Amino acid sequence: MRIHYLRCGTDCPLGGAFFDGFSKGPLGLIPCAAQLVESSEGLVLIDTGYGTQDVRQPHPRLSKFMRTLLNIRFRMEETALHQVKALGYSPADVRHIVLTHLDFDHAGGLEDFPNARVHVMEAEREAAELTRRGFIARRRYRRSQWDNVRDWRTYAGAGERWFGFDQVRQLDGLPPEILMVPMPGHTWGHAGIAVDTGSGWVLNAGDAYFYRRELDADRRRCTPGLRLYQTMMEVDRELRFANQARLRDLKRSHGREVTIFCSHDEKELEAMQGRDAPPASTAKRAFAEAVA
Ligand SMILES: [Zn+2]
Repeated sequence: MRIHYLRCGTDCPLGGAFFDGFSKGPLGLIPCAAQLVESSEGLVLIDTGYGTQDVRQPHPRLSKFMRTLLNIRFRMEETALHQVKALGYSPADVRHIVLTHLDFDHAGGLEDFPNARVHVMEAEREAAELTRRGFIARRRYRRSQWDNVRDWRTYAGAGERWFGFDQVRQLDGLPPEILMVPMPGHTWGHAGIAVDTGSGWVLNAGDAYFYRRELDADRRRCTPGLRLYQTMMEVDRELRFANQARLRDLKRSHGREVTIFCSHDEKELEAMQGRDAPPASTAKRAFAEAVA
């Protein structure tokens, strides 16, 4: 299964390497990663980053606090919609959107694909819909990003074991190569999304961790800025750390079979984009033949 790795937004927080671990200047470089999967059931977008409406009118769609803290760089060409079109597809070709969670930097592009079925954990949708919420919850979940979704599919409870994770689910209308892997802690319904590419699994761990070296077997570390941000955004530290430990185990014991990346690490995104091989025109033709 062909996967395009997209940068659907960039945050440039003041602090540089304090956040990303490598920038020389005062600003950090934090991508919002997404994937576009060419599946037998049409195009599947995994996370949506910031969308065209976020770029056009960030205020009041996104909270001033988050915009200021992250110094979000809004660019139309980084939206999923723009990139889907640039690859030669129509927005209507995107039949499914699978979300790691509903935070503002993952759900912003939903309304750019109004015909897509949206898959998310039930606990996530419930948490996002709650009206009585705290300081962070009000700023992370932005109803205007998802109040036009017509076809929600939410998931709870039962599922299978998958490489040390539990309650892993297939998704309604999607091929069995795409799985939702619950890993709460960052939010109540946070999940990773696993895709069997035919030559190994790729696991998008979303915001289960933020910095590549957090998955190192020894001397693991996180930058101070991202450690603070994760602490500020977490809903359950114990669950978050337990899931990070499971991801480290997975990487150590099955690193050849499963490639793991997260939403906000520039180096990881660049490495994944390096795997995304043939030029778009060839890919589109191959995909058209495959679904014909
Ligand atoms: Zn995020």
